[in-house]
Amino acid sequence: MKKLTNPVTEIDGKVKKLIDDMFESMYNADGIGLAANQVGESLSIITIDTAPAQKENEKKNPPIALINPILEEVSENESDYQEGCLSVPDLHEKVIRPVSIQVRYYNENAKEKVLNTDGILARVIQHEIDHLSGILFYERLTPIRRTLVKNKLKNIQKGKIIPAYPMILPDGTRIEGKVKE
Ligand code: ZN
Repeated sequence: MKKLTNPVTEIDGKVKKLIDDMFESMYNADGIGLAANQVGESLSIITIDTAPAQKENEKKNPPIALINPILEEVSENESDYQEGCLSVPDLHEKVIRPVSIQVRYYNENAKEKVLNTDGILARVIQHEIDHLSGILFYERLTPIRRTLVKNKLKNIQKGKIIPAYPMILPDGTRIEGKVKE
């Protein structure tokens, strides 16, 4: 069953602690983005740090937490990029998405912000906002690609592929992950 998220109604110490914990989980799992419902909290919060996925000579986007993010605009221009997901271990597929976006959100200091961005940051924001409404990246593949990845997905859902980090799987099961040696 898909787990949907509720908007944050007050940005208090609990929310800030959750954001800190989310960054920690994300870095532990070598992820570049995380949605709160991936770690069992059904709140509309995402954390992102795209730096590890950026080119060496590129200016690094700072880590960012978005509370109650809303995609206000997306470009007609689209691109593809090989995406992966901490909730779908071992699956990497090219996903087509708009290149640039406008997103409205609150930061951890309860300030309302509007961000216009493109490239990797726009991509990760879209992937994570999808999570908040229960959409996983493989649902955005073309039907033919989806059929091809079906068996792999079955193995992931059966728990045959276990990630190296604790995570909530798409069906809501919590897994502890392999212990790092
Ligand atoms: Zn994901």
